[in-house]
This record gives sequence, C-alpha cells and structure tokens, in this order.
Amino acid sequence: MPPTDLDTLIARTLHHGIGAAKAGDLVVPPIVPSAVYYLPGEPSGPYQYGRWSNPTWDALEDALAVLENAQVVAFPSGMAAISSIFYSQIKTGDRVLLPSDGYYTTRALAEKFLAPMGAFIESCPTTGFETRSFEDFRMVLIETPSNPGLDICDLESVIPRAKKGGALVIVDNTTMTPLGQRPLDLGADALVSSDSKAINGHSDTCFGHVASRNSALIADVREWRKLSGAIPGSFEAWLVHRGLETLELRFERMCESAMTIAEQLSAHPKVESVKYPGLPTHPAHMLAKKQMRRFGGLIAVTFATDSDAERFIDAAEFVRPVTSFGGTHTSAERRARWGDKVSSGFVRLSVGCEPTKVLWDEMKRVLDVL
Ligand SMILES: *Cc1c(COP(=O)(O)O)cnc(C)c1O
Repeated sequence: MPPTDLDTLIARTLHHGIGAAKAGDLVVPPIVPSAVYYLPGEPSGPYQYGRWSNPTWDALEDALAVLENAQVVAFPSGMAAISSIFYSQIKTGDRVLLPSDGYYTTRALAEKFLAPMGAFIESCPTTGFETRSFEDFRMVLIETPSNPGLDICDLESVIPRAKKGGALVIVDNTTMTPLGQRPLDLGADALVSSDSKAINGHSDTCFGHVASRNSALIADVREWRKLSGAIPGSFEAWLVHRGLETLELRFERMCESAMTIAEQLSAHPKVESVKYPGLPTHPAHMLAKKQMRRFGGLIAVTFATDSDAERFIDAAEFVRPVTSFGGTHTSAERRARWGDKVSSGFVRLSVGCEPTKVLWDEMKRVLDVL
C-alpha cells in the first residue's frame, strides 16, 4: 500500500459511507439488532444469521478500515481481538513471545489457556526486544508504549528482524491508536486494539478490533469470530462508530494536555518522577519522536509513597479513580493494586479532554498541600 497521508484518511473516515448515497438515504448507519435475516430457499445474501455478520458491524469495520488503511474485524473487547489472533494462529508446539511488562491479561490468557494446549509462552521486557533473537518463534507480540510502564520498542528495527526469523508480528496499538502510531506501515502482520480506551473514548462500552493487510489472516480471524461466537453487539458497534468520529479531536487534546501536565508534574517537588514519551528525560524520547506521531495521553507518575499517590487521586476533583484509560475524563490509578511490577507509589495517569489549564490548576492545588 502507498505511504499513508493520515489527515486524508481521517477526513475519509468521517465521510465514509455518505459518498455513494442517493436522495433520502441514511447519512448515519442504523443500529441493526437483528439475530436473524429473511432467508428463503438456498441461503444467499450478505446477511444470513446474527452470529455471522451484521450491517452495524460492517459500517464500523469499514470506517476503521479507512483509518487503519487495512482490513478490520470488530470484537466485543480488546481481549476478544487478542484471543482471535491467538486461537486462530497458534498451534501445539508453537513458541510465542509476549512483553513481560505489557498488558497483564494478555500473558494471563496465554499462560492459562495456550500453554496447556502445548504452546510455549515466553516473555521479554519491551526494551529487551531490540537485542532479542526471534529464531523459531511462531508469534511475537509487541506493545509500545507498554502499559503501564510506557517503555518503547523500536518497531522499525524489531519488526523486520522478527519476521525474518519466521514469526508473525502482532502489535498491540491500544495506547497510541491509529492516529499516534502506524505499526502496519512498519511491516507488522496485524495489530490489535482495545477500543474500550480512546477509540470509543466515552467509557460506555468495551470493544476491540484486529487490523491487517494480510487477507488470509483476516479470513482466519473472521472465521474464528463466527465459530467461537465472540461477537460484538450492534449497539456497542454503533457507539464505537460514533466515538470514532471525534477520536482525532479528543486525542489531540489529550496528547497536548498530557505534554503540558507531564512537564509541570516533573517540575513539582511533591512528585518523585515522571515518565512520558514526550519528555526529553524519557530514556527513548528520540525513538518516540521518530516512531510516534503524538506522545499519547498516558503519563507514568511516581510518588514517594502509596498514600501520597492515593491522596492525589482522591483529592483532585478532575482526576477520577478508575482503571482503564483513554476516556474524556482524566483518570488515574495506582497500578501496584493489581500486582503490576511497579513501585507502590506508581500512578498511571490518563489525561482526558478537560481544558488543560483547569486540569493542571486542580492537580497543582492538590499537590501543593500533599
Ligand atoms: C485494555 C487493554 C487491553 C484489553 O482490552 P479490553 O477491551 O479491556 O478487553 C489489551 N491491551 C492493552 C494494551 C490494553 O490497555
């Protein structure tokens, strides 16, 4: 595929489906909750049964496909999207490499259910992929920036090396969205995304998708969805489609505010350390500048103690104690409460869409009296 002019893709995503309309046609895709379709005689037509296909999924997948510049399959959660990749591609005896510091549930799923079926699950820190050998791996899954540590993997260097070793390379692009980072342009075989985060963006549904330019892989993933029954609801697909329309506006605000807030936090004496890809103090800042179009809405903030961290989260009016990220509301949580291997005062801060100054003023008010 030609290099991506992302702004044009964003504009086309917003207009998708309207171009071919006739007078009186719908401009907004309808919610079609049908489990069955009219199906006389020999089965024919695009829609036959609700587990197989649905016009509301199609409308969303088509819009996401424009933005990803790839084929897309929608799922009811990010984990269902990751499951579709695992269960459609991994067989007994296959070696799978996962990030040891990435989203915990991906490893838990592989260890609990893939390993007993005879797959070999190995892990490596996100910063270790660079020097890792990928010989004899069937699949290498990369998450960058990693959630929650925000470490960065050099996709341009790692993807071709892993592919040369024979592995299928999957990138979990949740923390960046298609607007922040384009792993398929760097050669990844597929990407997975939790659209429960910024893509839907309104914290009102779980969702996910797989995107790939490999038709055979997409056909496998689609068939896995059909046979496993891990299908999204039409209302949820419609919500995500609606959320997608404002993704660029929301993501721009989140990233801009996150940059300002990361700078201010790192200058504040009550904060022990701040890790944000946009700060020159991030160990991979130069790589982030090369690889990412934006630095994202997540900031890793470390306080001296867990009680400082909890007081910051509790007292700031515009910071909500919530797991997950990417919503319109700024939210934060101490990740050690889930057992992530981070210090007890480590907070994952997800910057939302509030006006930047109001948000920072409120954080500063709380920090000043910690
Ligand atoms: C949240 C998340 C997931 C899982 O997505 P769900 O929609 O919660 O199933 C996977 N990967 C990353 C990086 C995530 O942040």
